Amino acid sequence: MIPEQLERDDILFVLLPPREKGLHTPGWNLVENGVKPYDPRLSHHVKAGGNLGFYPAPSSSLLILDVDISDIFHQAGGDQLVEGTYRYSAWSDRKKYRALLECQDIPTRWHGYKTSIKAHGAGSNDPAALEIFFPAGPVSKLVEEVRPDGTRVKKQVTITRTGGQVVAPYATHPNGNQSLPFDESAPIKPVSWDQVVEVCERIRPAALEQQQPKDAPVCREYAPPGRRLLRERYNLMLIMPDDPRPSGEEIRGSNPWHGSTSPGGNVAVNPGKGVFFCFRHMKGYDAAGVDAIRRGIISCGDDYDGTAFKRHVEELERDYPEVRALEIEAWKRQKKAEREGNR
Ligand SMILES: [Zn+2]
Repeated sequence: MIPEQLERDDILFVLLPPREKGLHTPGWNLVENGVKPYDPRLSHHVKAGGNLGFYPAPSSSLLILDVDISDIFHQAGGDQLVEGTYRYSAWSDRKKYRALLECQDIPTRWHGYKTSIKAHGAGSNDPAALEIFFPAGPVSKLVEEVRPDGTRVKKQVTITRTGGQVVAPYATHPNGNQSLPFDESAPIKPVSWDQVVEVCERIRPAALEQQQPKDAPVCREYAPPGRRLLRERYNLMLIMPDDPRPSGEEIRGSNPWHGSTSPGGNVAVNPGKGVFFCFRHMKGYDAAGVDAIRRGIISCGDDYDGTAFKRHVEELERDYPEVRALEIEAWKRQKKAEREGNR
């Protein structure tokens, strides 16, 4: 019923209704509601015709790959990545299947999540070629709380959850087929995180890079309407990270001021968007903000506020007096031309 490969303490099970792949009951994804592999509830549930789902528990090293378009996955080198490891499928052509891998160095930022990887150039309605289910972990979440007086407050809480579960081998798929292993005695193969990243990068560049959260602040220089930006006037540029490497449309690497302890660095520079983003401080800067950090007016992580801006202007005018002098000259010439034009 439960293959021996899954009889381990770092796997938690979910009781699924017969012929179903998922659960919608609130709280099913919380680790405290997961069921250990030796729990008698599991066999009762299966005997009654139910399906089992599972996911890696916190601090597990198990990775679950849900291969949805095997052609794309295999062309990217995925066939070698999962060759010989434990796999199972509910489809006789095995065009879709699940593969289990042992990976000791999964970055912790993925704990509690799953990710979908679409082929490079795929449209928004196209299915993902691959989904990866990571070990459960603590995730910070914004929840709304109702106080005794009826007012609502938003609170940041930490929950330990799984990013997703998959149906276990031998479960009955909604299509009526049973999920069967390719080789029931195959072990779960160890791989390194780099090997996983390599395949995913070929499916879509930068697929597994840490993404800038949509709500993360980007400090931008403020310019009232009609005033030119400092970055244009003084030709301020973004700074490249240390140990730079290209990644999709960005350049990734380590923070040049406070360094990085994460493999692969903690900075993403997007020249197209004109943003330098620091993942340690979860904050982005435009070229003016970057120049202010470079000058020590602010530190990485600080806001580029009005006081910082004022000091920055003073320093730039002191260091490049010609810029302002030329602007004043140009302004005078323009005024003169206007006067002459009006005559
Ligand atoms: Zn920083």
